Amino acid sequence: MTSIDLGMPTTPSPTLAERRKTRQIRVGKVLVGGDAPVSVQSMTTTPTTDVNATLQQIAELTATGCDIVRVAVPSQDDAEALPTIARKSQIPVIADIHFQPKYVFAAIDAGCAAVRVNPGNIRKFDDQVKEISRAAADAGVSIRIGVNAGSLDPRLLQKYGKPTAEALVESALWEASLFEEHDFRDFKISVKHHDPVVMVRAYELLAEQCDYPLHLGVTEAGPAFQGTIKSAVAFGALLSKGIGDTIRVSLSAPPAEEVKVGIKILESLNLRPRKLEIVSCPSCGRAQVDVYTLAEEVTAGLEGMEVPLRVAVMGCVVNGPGEAREADLGVASGNGKGQIFVKGEVVKTVPESQIVETLIDEAMRIAEDLKGAGVPSGTPEVVVR
Ligand code: SF4
Repeated sequence: MTSIDLGMPTTPSPTLAERRKTRQIRVGKVLVGGDAPVSVQSMTTTPTTDVNATLQQIAELTATGCDIVRVAVPSQDDAEALPTIARKSQIPVIADIHFQPKYVFAAIDAGCAAVRVNPGNIRKFDDQVKEISRAAADAGVSIRIGVNAGSLDPRLLQKYGKPTAEALVESALWEASLFEEHDFRDFKISVKHHDPVVMVRAYELLAEQCDYPLHLGVTEAGPAFQGTIKSAVAFGALLSKGIGDTIRVSLSAPPAEEVKVGIKILESLNLRPRKLEIVSCPSCGRAQVDVYTLAEEVTAGLEGMEVPLRVAVMGCVVNGPGEAREADLGVASGNGKGQIFVKGEVVKTVPESQIVETLIDEAMRIAEDLKGAGVPSGTPEVVVR
């Protein structure tokens, strides 16, 4: 077999804009803001009181690539589950607090890495800021000021008539100023809205007026298909201008799906090293193989691949050889056969029935070679065109 140049990565892939300069805070072992990579968050859906189920879900999220996890704390029983969850979770745990300020203190005592507060619905929140600031500072715990269109401070709702971008930002900056009064600045801010247009505008306004790290989210984005699109559009609009330090994709779907979408959004913008990337054609009347099935089977067969790999799955000879040649690995199909390319060279031609297994075998071989060559997992492959 001819030797193939596997191509060591050289320079980082370009991004669309420089990251906005923000203060850096710590969420447990994860840094947020400053020059820290944009992190991906999700939230458990298990009852927090069910410690085993919650830890199991956190383990799944961790395996999927989640950096930070949030758990709901709606009751005393949930608060009492926090110490075990915080201690046993592999990734930092944020306690999500609404209505009851006493759970903020419980979460800090429990060893949570951070606390999310929703100033709009915490009773007498303004009176509590001094105590919260002191407790958080003493414990090294950061806070998210999580303003949400659905639970905006009633005073601002009255002033603006509805949760406009300006209303969300005014609420967030007001609460930030209360923390600042007590010399506490270890917080990030979110101003979530279900409408990506309002949400983007709110974050743009906020980014102009403060240097706190921003947690991006389109709230109640919807089921997986709609929520993925809304989040990708909104996050893309902001991240492409350098706005956003940590993200949470909200889907009416299992939380691991949120993490996968979040990671893909970041990878697409070169904000996170790309791992497996399938370049597959949409198919058309010229296709000589079942491209959809082929692409799905290759994707499934390579799921979890830890090294950067671009795999082209193409349906015919129009763009097939060109794309397959540009990728690390590819197939150009035609006449019931597939030409298998590795790093631009045809290494073999196989019958259609063997395309998937051949691609997977070759991918595994490349992965082993890359690991042997010391390419760190997830290091982006730079393709010079
Ligand atoms: S590669 Fe061929 S089959 Fe696929 S979309 Fe292009 S022309 Fe159609």
